[in-house]
Amino acid sequence: MNRAGARLVRIAAILKNKNVKPLPQKVLCRNCHSRELLISQSDMRVKLIPALEDNYMYLLIDEDTKQCAAVDPVEPEKIVSAVKEEGVLLNAVLTTHHHWDHAGGNEKLTALVGKTIYGGDDRIGGLTNKVEQGDEFKIGSLKVRCLFTPCHTSGHICYLVTGKEGEAPAVFTGDTLFQGGCGKFFEGTAEQMHKALIKTLSVLPQETKVYCGHEYTVSNLKYAAHVEPASEAVASRLAWAQNQRAKREATVPSTIGEEMLINPFMRVSEASVQTHCKETDSVKVMAFLRNEKNQFLTPSIMAPWTDLHTL
Ligand SMILES: [Zn+2]
Repeated sequence: MNRAGARLVRIAAILKNKNVKPLPQKVLCRNCHSRELLISQSDMRVKLIPALEDNYMYLLIDEDTKQCAAVDPVEPEKIVSAVKEEGVLLNAVLTTHHHWDHAGGNEKLTALVGKTIYGGDDRIGGLTNKVEQGDEFKIGSLKVRCLFTPCHTSGHICYLVTGKEGEAPAVFTGDTLFQGGCGKFFEGTAEQMHKALIKTLSVLPQETKVYCGHEYTVSNLKYAAHVEPASEAVASRLAWAQNQRAKREATVPSTIGEEMLINPFMRVSEASVQTHCKETDSVKVMAFLRNEKNQFLTPSIMAPWTDLHTL
């Protein structure tokens, strides 16, 4: 099937709300879209591992016990070699949602190494431990709390990870919160995304590091600059992100505090955003932004399907 055909199949599958199968390997990049990145603090280490065209997988490592979890390990072989490289023990998978580019590697990873697979949706391949809002478990001495954030998919979970006092928590946000944007509302409403972003994620400690599921930052911030053209925070973050991408460096992580300054979907109560949307109700602002963003294409940086998928 050619590229256009594959895209049409994916569109049809999305419209029918089915699990979407991977595109043929030939349309996925051979070389990684970004360099790997290691973010270290005294309690946890997070290894960012690029996957597919613009996805991010992560290894979440507890420094005390060297136990670790893989987040959305769509390319299991890369995870297995990263585990060896870091000299750690993989014992769990955290799945943010059932889409193939996040959950599609679960079964293969289980076959390779055998794992406990957490997730909030029965459609997740290999699921062993279904979780819901407020569920907690541990990766070594790190505490993981499940935040139910339905909208992009009806079973989407974000994972909040807390270690030692005085160290920043981390939140793995899948396709709910991106740097500078949010996921499409495939199985939910503006009200649900408002709850996820404003009531669940924006109230986390401002220093919480945000690890999302895709490298969409430049495109998101171009839209953010359209919404808030006078914002210096957005302009400087966009310039930084463009510079990072020119070097194939990741723009992840940001922090919740940074997102509150640059991400229009986190700023639905701000006068400047409301003026742009000509709305004062923050749920209606959320709906307006998503609708406008869906039409706001920046084709030069986009993979053939991302406009239709999550961006
Ligand atoms: Zn998704």
